Amino acid sequence: MRVLISGAGIAGPACAFWLHRAGAEVTVVERTAEPRPGGHAVDVRGVARTVVERMGLRETIRRRQVDERGWAMVDGTGRRLAEMPADAFGGEGIVAEIEIARGDLARILLDATPGVDYRFGDRVTAIDDRTVTFASGGTERYDVVIGADGVHSGVRELAFGPRERFVRYLGGYTAYFTVGDPGDLDHWMLMYNAPGGRVAYLRPKNGCTAKAGLSFRHPDPSYERLTRADAERLVSDRMTGAGWRIPELLAAMPGAGDFYFDSINQVRVDRWWRGRAVLLGDAGYCGSPLAGLGTSMSLVGGYVLAGELTRAADPERAFATYQDAMADYVESGLELPPGGMAMFAPMSRTAIRLRAFSTRMMTRWPSRQIAERQFSKAERITLRDYPALSAQIDEPVQHH
Ligand SMILES: Cc1cc2nc3c(=O)[nH]c(=O)nc-3n(C[C@H](O)[C@H](O)[C@H](O)COP(=O)(O)OP(=O)(O)OC[C@H]3O[C@@H](n4cnc5c(N)ncnc54)[C@H](O)[C@@H]3O)c2cc1C
Repeated sequence: MRVLISGAGIAGPACAFWLHRAGAEVTVVERTAEPRPGGHAVDVRGVARTVVERMGLRETIRRRQVDERGWAMVDGTGRRLAEMPADAFGGEGIVAEIEIARGDLARILLDATPGVDYRFGDRVTAIDDRTVTFASGGTERYDVVIGADGVHSGVRELAFGPRERFVRYLGGYTAYFTVGDPGDLDHWMLMYNAPGGRVAYLRPKNGCTAKAGLSFRHPDPSYERLTRADAERLVSDRMTGAGWRIPELLAAMPGAGDFYFDSINQVRVDRWWRGRAVLLGDAGYCGSPLAGLGTSMSLVGGYVLAGELTRAADPERAFATYQDAMADYVESGLELPPGGMAMFAPMSRTAIRLRAFSTRMMTRWPSRQIAERQFSKAERITLRDYPALSAQIDEPVQHH
């Protein structure tokens, strides 16, 4: 089987890993010229932990994971208004048991797929059944084309239709970038809300750096394709004067090597395949960073899609069983936490106080039940065993 995967983020290499192990000839085409380093800690939750274990990567991930011991909401002076330690809800709370910088996880997956043909700096421009045309000019035939190219998926646009049908803008933007370790995080993630729907956060990272995030609400969805300079200007305009450590973060932003800026969106597609093309990860189902299950759904989806492709007589049947197996898990993964954007980035001081209060109440009855339901969604799928994927391999040796 010849498979083309568009997107070398998390979902693409994860699926490539399994397909290559099952004997497929796998090519991954990635728009950017090299692997993208950016991103905060992402969580590997619930059933996704089983998937990385089956990949033989659990220890490699553990060695690189961020030592994050909890999440605290602070006011402008740094006083803690609410907090949740990492072990709340059995390690499935706001901070999960396994948190790893997104760029580190992407790198681990690339290193674990040496037999896969990666083509950076290219993209698909046309799909005609099995014939795929690339921006670089070539045309090739594949049995299956997997769109694992994120929220702004090119495969989805080409094979499924315009993004407006599938992408819902949730009313805000986020910038992530690396800053120097301020020295006082003590392994906690700090989050600060300012009136006007502005949010700033700092997360510990391994070594002498930390990850900063600046998010804000905005009615206009048209800013997602800004140049870096324009994106930085927009972030500065919205965040200046919001208080806390925001002046330091804004000052560090232009020097960051891994600046990442995007709108906050949800992606929902009714049927995940059309002919030979199928969607995986954020391209087909994304709850937004607010829902927090994107990386786990990508890892699980990569495993299930590869497994079903090894089982079925033809790709379309495999796509259908992949969607059936994933449907309930993804549906709950797309659910936003209670209050959605209004709770994540409240507009008024009163709403910020309400957020702090409801976070303090989260571990107590009756809120605890709602929170438990939210955090248990990472478990809502039973993985099948696929014999073609289960060949035992040794964990790759990592050289540092
Ligand atoms: C740089 C970066 C940083 C991120 N940081 C965070 C974070 O801090 N927190 C968080 O919750 N989520 C973050 N995300 C999103 C998170 O990685 C995903 O929600 C989740 O892991 C699902 O992964 P994915 O592989 O489906 O999508 P992604 O990780 O978005 O990967 C998609 C890949 O496809 C590539 N691509 C896009 N269009 C095309 C095209 N037309 N042709 C070929 N390739 C294409 C992209 O460059 C990217 O490498 C980040 C994504 C990126 C790209």
